[in-house]
Amino acid sequence: MKLNYRELFMEKMGILLRPDDIEATARDFLSSYASYMKEVGIVAKDPSGKTLYSSRTAPVDDKYTQFFEQWVSLTRALGIDSAVAMDFYTDGWFGRDPKYQTIGFKGQTLTHQICPNREEFWQYGAEIIKELGAYPIDEILLFGAGYVRDEFCFCERCRKEFAPMVDQEPKRLTYLYISENPDHLAKWYKWRTDKVNRGLQVLQDAAREVDKKAGRSKPLTIAVEVLIDPETGLSDGAMKRCGYDYTKIGEITGNILINLFPWSPLLPKKGTKQYNDLIESLYFTTEFKRRGGRASLFRWGVKTLDQFRELKAFGKDAGIDRFVVSLHYPNDYSTRRESAITSY
Ligand SMILES: [Zn+2]
Repeated sequence: MKLNYRELFMEKMGILLRPDDIEATARDFLSSYASYMKEVGIVAKDPSGKTLYSSRTAPVDDKYTQFFEQWVSLTRALGIDSAVAMDFYTDGWFGRDPKYQTIGFKGQTLTHQICPNREEFWQYGAEIIKELGAYPIDEILLFGAGYVRDEFCFCERCRKEFAPMVDQEPKRLTYLYISENPDHLAKWYKWRTDKVNRGLQVLQDAAREVDKKAGRSKPLTIAVEVLIDPETGLSDGAMKRCGYDYTKIGEITGNILINLFPWSPLLPKKGTKQYNDLIESLYFTTEFKRRGGRASLFRWGVKTLDQFRELKAFGKDAGIDRFVVSLHYPNDYSTRRESAITSY
C-alpha cells in the first residue's frame, strides 16, 4: 500500500520512520513534506541492537548512516522538531550473549531482551545517548525501558542479589516463593523498579552531560516508553510487571511515551467499559503533566488516516495531545508479545 504521507503529516502527528520506509533520499523526502511537518522521528538504534548512525560504541548497519546524517541535519535546518528512537533493553545483539540475557523463573532465556540489572549495560546506553546527543536532535524515544514481566529476571546476578533480601538461597529462589508471600512480592516489585530507575538516571545524566558539552540551548529530552495493554493490567499492571514508576520517571526524565495497546491490535470503542477503564488508567498523566512532565501517546503499526484520527480522538478524552506513531511493528514483535503476555 502506498502511503499518503502528506495526508498523515497534516494531522500534526509525529511519525517515527525508518529509512527503508522512505523510497527517496532524506533531502527529497523532506523537501516534499517539510511544510506539513511539525515534528518527525527516525530510528537510530533498533531492536536488532544495531545503529543506523555511525556509532563508535554499538554495531552499525552501514546502509543508512549517510541517510541518518542528512536527515537530522536537514530537519534542524528546516526547523522541524526531531526525535530519534533507541531500543534499550530490547537489544538482539547483546541478547545473544548469555552474560546479558534476561532469564525467566523457569530458566527460559530471552535472546531479545537484556536483564535490566546490568550497570555495565546502563553505561553502554549512556554512551549511545551521548553519541546521539551530538547530533542536532531534540528528543530520544527510549524503547524497551523495563522488565519483560514480573516473572523476570532470574539470572544468576538477580538471584544472588535478591535472594538474601527474602531469606532464601539464590539457587532455590523461585517465583512461587516470592509471589506467595505479599512482603516478598512487594520487595520484588520495589527492587526491580529501583533497577529500572537507576538505569534511567544513568541515561538522563548522560543527556545532561551532552547538553553541556554540545552547548545545547534546549536540553535533550528522553521519552521513556511504557507499555500499557489490557492483557497486562493497564497502567497498574505495567507498573508491577515491567517496573515502571510513573512518578519517578517524571522526576528523572520528565517525559513519558505511552505505548498504547502494544499487544492488542484494536483500541476499545468509546462508551464501552474497556474504553473508560483505559481512560481511568491514564489519570496519572494529569499529575505527571502538572509537575511539568510531557506525556505522549504512541502506537505501532498506524498507517491510515482513520487509525490516526481514532488515536487523536482517544487522546482528547484522555487529556493527552501529543502523538507519535510508527508505521510498522518491530521485527521481533511476535517473540516479544509472546514473552510479555504468555504464562509459561
Ligand atoms: Zn537478571
